[in-house]
Amino acid sequence: MKWEDLRRSKNVQDRRGQSGGSGRNRGGSRSSMGGGLLNLLFLIPGKGKWVVLAVILFSVLGGGALGGFGDLLGGNNMNQPTNEIQVNNEAQQSETGVTDDEFNFVSSVLASTEDFWNESFSTENMTYDEPGMVIYEGGTATSGCGFGSSQAGPFYCPADANVYIDLSFWRDLSQQYGAPGDFAMAYVVAHEVGHHIQNEIGVMDEYNEVRQTLSETEANELNVRLELQADYFAGVWAKYAQEEGLLESGDINEALQAAFAVGDDTIQERATGRVVPDSFTHGSAEQRQAWFMRGFEYGDFEHGDTFNTYLENE
Ligand SMILES: [Zn+2]
Repeated sequence: MKWEDLRRSKNVQDRRGQSGGSGRNRGGSRSSMGGGLLNLLFLIPGKGKWVVLAVILFSVLGGGALGGFGDLLGGNNMNQPTNEIQVNNEAQQSETGVTDDEFNFVSSVLASTEDFWNESFSTENMTYDEPGMVIYEGGTATSGCGFGSSQAGPFYCPADANVYIDLSFWRDLSQQYGAPGDFAMAYVVAHEVGHHIQNEIGVMDEYNEVRQTLSETEANELNVRLELQADYFAGVWAKYAQEEGLLESGDINEALQAAFAVGDDTIQERATGRVVPDSFTHGSAEQRQAWFMRGFEYGDFEHGDTFNTYLENE
């Protein structure tokens, strides 16, 4: 990715070298406001759902405590076992000293997402509140999502609207997950920003509301749809990056490799040698790739209703 000439985001906090401890998984408060947006998303047939959504949003936006997480990887959902992806954490913990280049790269990618989403929201007569990004090492405190640990991978905390990334994950992505390249990491950032978009437009509130009424299997499936939408939004941004002339050859493949690497089936297969689709929380490798590519193809809100749309290959 041609990122060097991009501006850096002003919303990045550098907490490198301030390890907040380790070993505790983060908890998280979970509360949500009323409304039936996601129900509506489930019920409204046909096209134009996002138009309806945009209208409803005006009544939904404007308050309410948030809870829950949007993360990149399966296995750290609060109702899920947390051990599926904890591969070679010793290697991760001995790795410190993320380079300034890596830091500047994610800051530039974040800035690019800000430019894009500001513009997109503005087109819809909405205001985009930019997310923060916290770069940390090992573990760090969040405001409202408990203790953030790098063992769980990058995540988004809806309560403080921050994306949390330990950049050693970039090396893991390349070395352990088999997804090298800068655009693999750009996909990760754009996915987490995708959760912020869901937070901004009210989908995450409704997700939290509806999720409480579901069985575990149904809740997992709902979580998959939430994650696939974040992948879709990552693809939407990637299309913008292409239009801005930021992509280099191979970049999209790097993103697709990353989407494959963080697919539930890929992770389960590697961790346990078997795949249990009912326990998927983020989607299969194929689903994640398909939704990223769909975002890259359409570059809009309206094709991103993962809650009502099932693609041919999923
Ligand atoms: Zn996610």
